[in-house]
Amino acid sequence: MTYEIIKELTTTKKDKTPDHQLGFGKRFTDHMFSMDYEEGKGWHNAKITEYKPIELSPAATVLHYGQAVFEGLKAYATEAGEILLFRPDQNFKRLNRSNERLCIPAIDEEFALYALKELLQIDRDWVPTSEGTSLYIRPFIIATEPYLGVSPAKNYKFMIIMSPVGSYYAEGINPIKILVEQHYVRAVAGGTGEAKAGGNYASSLKGSELANAQGYAQTLWLDGKEHQYVEEVGSMNIFFKIAGKVITPALNGSILAGITRDSMINVLKSKNIPVEERKIAFLEIVEAANNGTLEEVFGTGTAAVISPVGYLKWSDGAIDVNNGQIGEVTQMLYDTLTGIQYGKLEDTFGWTI
Ligand code: PMP
Repeated sequence: MTYEIIKELTTTKKDKTPDHQLGFGKRFTDHMFSMDYEEGKGWHNAKITEYKPIELSPAATVLHYGQAVFEGLKAYATEAGEILLFRPDQNFKRLNRSNERLCIPAIDEEFALYALKELLQIDRDWVPTSEGTSLYIRPFIIATEPYLGVSPAKNYKFMIIMSPVGSYYAEGINPIKILVEQHYVRAVAGGTGEAKAGGNYASSLKGSELANAQGYAQTLWLDGKEHQYVEEVGSMNIFFKIAGKVITPALNGSILAGITRDSMINVLKSKNIPVEERKIAFLEIVEAANNGTLEEVFGTGTAAVISPVGYLKWSDGAIDVNNGQIGEVTQMLYDTLTGIQYGKLEDTFGWTI
């Protein structure tokens, strides 16, 4: 199959922010990718153009009923001057799983990856090179049909935009404080939790705001039915190390299948560290803390790679994890994954391209 992308490139290049002033997701590169879907015609009109606002009917279904999905991945600059992507095929696979759940027509995953590589090649000089920085890549699809009826739209737009981002740990890896959310939930079984749908993030804002207002960095989400089982932390997957064994909630339909999560499980297995995916009651964590076997807690995701948890607060008490220090396995996983992502360690898993 030959892939055709119309290129209308800009000659006016934007000024770049110095690496040390890069935050997260506020600046965008010079170009973007877009493609349209029309019933009968399928996906067509693939283009790389200047990064600019798009025109949308005020009746576009995405604005009313939230038919929208997205992905998040990064491009990393190596010391040798190469640009690496980490398991991008997995992001486009997950995008199609999200599409399926939201009744959005599937995209051609291989073409999407080809388009991303073309866009990266054009905006290559936007990949920051200072320690810990990267180019965040945001593919997304929105329903564009002007129609106020509640049904799957007949028109969509698939886009890829890119944003240079600073080092998540510019001030070193500090374990975070977490509030266990016992009222609001992020997702429910049978809902859209395992899809990367915009609405999931809108509904999680309330819990995050409440946690932030009380001085906690993130929310620990429990299951939507019994409010007893651990699901995720903020927008990361969560892991616990108890008595030498690492456990993480099994993918149950309301948890997002993190690509970092899967990578961590593989790294743990390769190092012969026991790892188990299963249902985890929050009380089990409390018990482990009480009997001194809770050794490490950490969240995983593309943005932070790994986020150690130093303190957990819930209605009946609080847990200090590892005296607020980063644990040995947490550190090893961080070093291994970032080592592979930045091309400093041999990629024995074949994850980078
Ligand atoms: N859970 C949620 C709800 C997320 O939004 C993310 C970020 N995509 C993750 C987990 C981690 O996924 P990944 O490792 O693929 O970034």
